[in-house]
Amino acid sequence: MATTTLRNHIAGEYREALTDERLDLIDPATEGVYGSIPLSGVADIDAAYAAAGAAFPAWRDATPGDRQLVLFRIADAMTARAEEFADLESQDTGKPRATLVADEIEQSIDQLRFFAGAARSLEGRAAGEYLAGHTSYVRREPIGVIGQVTPWNYPLNMAVWKIAPALAAGNTVVLKPAESTPQSTLLLAEIVAEHTPAGTLNVVLGGRETGAALVAHPSAQMVAITGSVRAGMAVAESAASDLKRVHLELGGKAPAVVFDDASIDKAVDAIVSGAFFNAGQDCTAATRVIVHASVHDELVRALVARTQTHARTGGPREEGVFYGPLSSAAQLAQVQGFVDRLPGHAKVETGGTRVGEQGYFFAPTIVSGMRQEDEAVQDEIFGPVLTVQSFSDDDEALGMANGVRYALAASVFTRDHNRAMRFTRDLDFGCVWVNTHIPFVSDMPHGGFKYSGYGKDLSQYGFDDYTRIKHVMSAWG
Ligand code: NAD
Repeated sequence: MATTTLRNHIAGEYREALTDERLDLIDPATEGVYGSIPLSGVADIDAAYAAAGAAFPAWRDATPGDRQLVLFRIADAMTARAEEFADLESQDTGKPRATLVADEIEQSIDQLRFFAGAARSLEGRAAGEYLAGHTSYVRREPIGVIGQVTPWNYPLNMAVWKIAPALAAGNTVVLKPAESTPQSTLLLAEIVAEHTPAGTLNVVLGGRETGAALVAHPSAQMVAITGSVRAGMAVAESAASDLKRVHLELGGKAPAVVFDDASIDKAVDAIVSGAFFNAGQDCTAATRVIVHASVHDELVRALVARTQTHARTGGPREEGVFYGPLSSAAQLAQVQGFVDRLPGHAKVETGGTRVGEQGYFFAPTIVSGMRQEDEAVQDEIFGPVLTVQSFSDDDEALGMANGVRYALAASVFTRDHNRAMRFTRDLDFGCVWVNTHIPFVSDMPHGGFKYSGYGKDLSQYGFDDYTRIKHVMSAWG
């Protein structure tokens, strides 16, 4: 098989890394090696920040209208090259190729277009005379050079979530994609370089050490990461030493609370899609069903039936596949480990095993009989595993739903308006869905509380996070 030797993209061009260390790219569907990335070091990161620093004045000084036009042109170029993006993304992740353009590539393009619009809405809240003879106003400015790190579950989406608001606000960027999924981000960097001053976006390849050096760099005014809690804490700790701004999106353990008055059909449809899309490697995935005892058996039966007909796993070019392999051997081992360690009171209703002997495929898995303190209820599995607990009253349901360290997303299924209103208030999560689970839009904020981190992606709130506020007061009396 032909292999791809990837390079960094710095100051508008591909550059060899100043290191000999490399890491193989492994196809998660076949386990074959198809390329390699450099494990970039401090010298590469220095070069990337120097380029981003040099590009900053010109990009900052571009008018919002100019920046908007550039982002629209980038979105148009992405549209023209959507099939290329899908090929690269599917090779890196093993995701079903047939649905990638409609699912993730078009979403990425829409997100970019949203932030192109946001570029023209930089605003200060008030201007006027708050002291006699003095006029005050507020400037909303870009922060400067931003260091960003993205994960492997939605490589292009996550790159756009990070890059688009940063560039729209007039910042320049040094970004490290996840070590196993760099190709779509590099293609995006190529396109961005065609429309922006050289060095506006720089992509440095490497693993955790490269990421740690990237966020520790003194030139970054702000660092943003989507990834594990472990990595987020390391980034926050590193940023504390020189008081960089920090933006963290760190995963979740989303509950889906199902009441006895809910439409079981609709709940099952939403929960099965929400649990198994992208092999459950999604921080908002429905991972914990919390169901009223009176409909527990009916719901579990329906979930199992729907899962067995709908949630088929398979290779990126197979037909009728809902989700692909897990991202890596490590991820497969993590998911299998959680299943192997299930307590005696747990009952595997379906799945629970690897599928095939080649590729990191794992069967859609539903486990009932779970208790709140169980590891599989408390910790992020990040795989196609759904746990089921039952409750007898509203307070118990709420206690179970909120009783984890994560707080990114949750859903409640009920026809009772009062109950829906109470749960949208009392569920302690950054997003609460009512009678659905997982859809998101570019216009609304994504981001959590507690161990899920802080800072919002998408929406005007995400855009604001990449700006700083300055008060100007001018005496004229
Ligand atoms: P990870 O957090 O280690 O990797 C995510 C990104 O962070 C990668 O680009 C990685 O190189 C980088 N990174 C890791 N440590 C870093 C550090 N100290 N400083 C700077 N960058 C660093 O994730 P993983 O080990 O590949 O996956 C482990 C678990 O993380 C998953 O099982 C899942 O629970 C969680 N995860 C969550 C998300 C999410 O969307 N929130 C995405 C990926 C993984």
